[in-house]
Amino acid sequence: MTQPPTSLTFEEARQRVDAYIGQFREGYFPPLLLLARLTEETGEIARVLAHQHGKTPKPGEDAGDLEMELADLLFVMICLANERGLSLERGFERMMQKIETRDADRWTRKEPGQ
Ligand SMILES: [Mg+2]
Repeated sequence: MTQPPTSLTFEEARQRVDAYIGQFREGYFPPLLLLARLTEETGEIARVLAHQHGKTPKPGEDAGDLEMELADLLFVMICLANERGLSLERGFERMMQKIETRDADRWTRKEPGQ
């Protein structure tokens, strides 16, 4: 197993997924199928969290790997953004700008040293 890079940019992730998908004639799934995959992966995240916070796994059922399930979801999100020609980096920046302004006073700020 290769060591992961110390940091990964949105663009590197976008290109890596695009290079992977680009090897295959089928290419990206169409948007509604990607939406189904997003939903499926979200459900897998829910299952892992349920195992960690309450529900006991069924006999023989794996407790799951939250990090991997989050990465599965990220992969599908990158696929959907690439398929639609969207930039997750630009979207992330826009979203952060939104919450940093709109929600600037929404939460209780920590006191210095907290
Ligand atoms: Mg999964």
